Amino acid sequence: MRSWMKSFLTLRFENVSRLNMTNLVLFGPPGSGKGTQAAFLIEKYNLVHISTGDLFRYEMGNNTPLGLEAKAFMAKGELVPDSITIGMLRNKVEKHPDANGFIFDGFPRTIPQAEALDALLQSMGTEVAGLIALEVDEEEIVGRILKRGQTSGRADDNDEATVRKRIAVYKSETAPVFDYYAKMGKSMNINGLGSIDEIAGRLSDAVDSLL
Ligand code: ADP
Repeated sequence: MRSWMKSFLTLRFENVSRLNMTNLVLFGPPGSGKGTQAAFLIEKYNLVHISTGDLFRYEMGNNTPLGLEAKAFMAKGELVPDSITIGMLRNKVEKHPDANGFIFDGFPRTIPQAEALDALLQSMGTEVAGLIALEVDEEEIVGRILKRGQTSGRADDNDEATVRKRIAVYKSETAPVFDYYAKMGKSMNINGLGSIDEIAGRLSDAVDSLL
C-alpha cells in the first residue's frame, strides 16, 4: 500500500476508534458509592477507572512529593489545588491511549477541572459522553462515611467535622459541575439509595442510554 494511503487510513481509523470511546463522569457527594459502582461499570463496559482520590492515596502511601503536597489538603477535607490535580489526571489518561473509554470518579470536582478535562479529551478526538450523579441525602452519607472510617484507615473518614467539611466543599465547588454538563444535555441523576445491585441496574440503564 502506498504510504500516503496507509497514513490516511490510520488517521481515519484512529479518529473512528476515539470517537467511539465511552467516557463517563461518575458524580455525587463523598460516600455516595462512586467507588463501589465504578468497579462494576469498568467490568461491564471494559473501561479504565480513574479515581483521583485513589491516585492521591497511592502517592501519599509512597511518600512521593505529590503525595506529601496533597496530604495536608486531604486531611482537612479541602480540595487539592487544581494545578496539581489536573496534571496528575492528564498523566494517567495519557498512559491509556488505547482505552475503550474512562470512568472518571472524583474528577472533575471544580469547573476549571471540567474545562481541563474537556480540553484534554478534545485533543484526543473524543469527549465526555455523560455525567451520572448518584443522589444520596446528607445524613445517609455522613453515616456511611463514619462507618467506612472504622475500617478504611482513611483519616478523613474518621472525624465528623472533616466529613461535613467535605460535604460543604462538594456543595459549593463541585455541585456546579453537574450544571456545567447539564447545559450540554449530558447530566443525569440516579437514585443512590438501595442495594448495590439495584443501583448498578439503574446505572447500567443510564449508561446504555448513552451508547
Ligand atoms: P470521597 O469521594 O469519599 O470524598 P475521594 O477519595 O474521591 O473521596 O477524595 C478524597 C480527597 O482527595 C478529597 O477530599 C480531596 O482532598 C482529594 N481529591 C480527590 N479528588 C480530587 C479532585 N478532583 N480535586 C481536588 N481534590 C481531590
